Amino acid sequence: MNSSQDRFSIANILLVDDRPENLRVLYTILKKQGYQPRGVVSGQMALSSAKINPPDLILLDIMMPGMDGYEVCRCLKEDENTREIPVIFISAKGETFDKIKAFSVGGVDYITKPFEVEELIARIENHLTLYRLQKQLQEKNWLLEKEVRNRMLIEAALSKSNQELSRSNEELEQFAYIASHDLLAPLASITIYAQLLEGRYQEKLDEQGKNFIIKIVKGCHRMQTLINDLLEYSRLGNQENSLELTECNLIFEEACTNLQAAIRNNQAVVTRSDLPILKADGFQLLQLFQNLLSNAIKYRREEPPIIHISALLKEDSYLFSVRDNGIGIESQYTNQIFQLFKRLHSTKKYPGTGIGLAICQKIVEYHGGSIWVESEYGKGSIFYFTIKKYS
Ligand code: ADP
Repeated sequence: MNSSQDRFSIANILLVDDRPENLRVLYTILKKQGYQPRGVVSGQMALSSAKINPPDLILLDIMMPGMDGYEVCRCLKEDENTREIPVIFISAKGETFDKIKAFSVGGVDYITKPFEVEELIARIENHLTLYRLQKQLQEKNWLLEKEVRNRMLIEAALSKSNQELSRSNEELEQFAYIASHDLLAPLASITIYAQLLEGRYQEKLDEQGKNFIIKIVKGCHRMQTLINDLLEYSRLGNQENSLELTECNLIFEEACTNLQAAIRNNQAVVTRSDLPILKADGFQLLQLFQNLLSNAIKYRREEPPIIHISALLKEDSYLFSVRDNGIGIESQYTNQIFQLFKRLHSTKKYPGTGIGLAICQKIVEYHGGSIWVESEYGKGSIFYFTIKKYS
């Protein structure tokens, strides 16, 4: 196999010349080079042959009776099926050949007879390569356009389902808010009447009856706490955009002040590294720090809690970590604990509603970040969350 076959798998070349002996010479040369030539003796025949079976290149004589080479080339360029085929003009020595016209009607090159075979082949190869590259480029363009169209369709579908999702989330939050709000009033009545019952009918109640009432009141209080936490959770979604420059160091100190009693009672040691300034909702950030800190104190082991918070800049976000030396979390629960109401212990052992971490997750996501935990059961946990850096 020769070089032309290597580079262009058997290129199909149309030869156009009104003189059969010229065609024969060209045919022999090209065949020898490994091309697949075919010849026609008029402009009309060239047009229909190119239309029926478009060649990879055309060698076109200029002076022909009837339709000359220029005219043939013009017609080829007008037809979208043959427009791209490279046309090389062949002119005989002494013939009046208008090079400007040859290029202006769409020719890519010309060669004058008598020609050197090497020169002819070099020119043919050159234009075949260009033609092939052009075709590849067009194909890639087409694929790219198709890909862009597909992506646009996917994006449109995604944004539609996102909109639907956020609408149904809003509805759900609205529902949770209204339901929790409306539940508080009857709950307060039950508590009051149970307490009235206990006060006014004390003599008429035996020990068991009194016990039942205590349980009712206790249950009501727990429900009240649950509803209040749920209200806090659903309110988070209803707030207006309130992001402003917030100094995390100050917010964290405020959280420590709010939890002063728990820190003291548990002899907890709470430290922090230098925390960044963020564009954030200060109140939500306080809730986030407070929830994580109070959990780190609550889920302690025998020894006093040691808690450290730090933040590291990673690309365009800060990675916060809240490390404790508490009871830790078994690996199968590390994803579940962020769900609403998910708790791993009884309220007797550790009081709580199972809403704190769901609130943390909502706050972090509201700030465009994510939250997760890494833990060693029995040794401690590190809660991580990311928040975009202020720029
Ligand atoms: P609550 O503390 O009210 O139960 P949270 O949503 O704050 O609710 O926490 C969910 C559960 O995750 C807790 O019940 C507890 O089992 C576990 N948990 C949270 N923080 C820690 C921690 N620092 N160490 C060990 N377990 C934790």
